[in-house]
Amino acid sequence: MTDIRDGTRVRKKDRYNHESWAFRQLQKFIEYKAVEKGIRVEYVDPENTSKTCSRCGHISRNNREGLDFVCEECGYELHADLNGARNIEHKVRDFRHDLESQGSCQPPDVDGVEATSATASRGAEPQASS
Ligand SMILES: [Zn+2]
Repeated sequence: MTDIRDGTRVRKKDRYNHESWAFRQLQKFIEYKAVEKGIRVEYVDPENTSKTCSRCGHISRNNREGLDFVCEECGYELHADLNGARNIEHKVRDFRHDLESQGSCQPPDVDGVEATSATASRGAEPQASS
C-alpha cells in the first residue's frame, strides 16, 4: 500500500481525495478479479487490527513498536503487518462463521460445466466421407 501512495505525486490539498480515489480503483479491481474467479469479497472493520495480539487477543497501543509487534500480555513477537493480516483473517473467519450459521453462505457457482459437455458432444458428430 505504501508503494502505491508514494508512486503518485499530487498537491498537498488534493492528496486526500486523490488517495481515496486510488484506493477505490484498487478496491474495484480486486472485486472485479475476485468475481471473475468466483471468490467472495468481504469487507472487514480494520479497527484495532494493528493493536490486537493475533495469538491472545490482547489490545494495546503498546503492543506495536514500528514494524515490530510484541504483545505485552503474552510476549508473542512477529512482524506488525503479519500480525495485522492475521487479525483480519480472524475477523473474516468470524464473519463467515456467522453467515454459515444463518445458512446464507452459498458456494460459488460452477459455470462452464454444461458448456464444456455440449462442445464435446458436437465434436462427436459423424464425419461426411467424400
Ligand atoms: Zn498476546
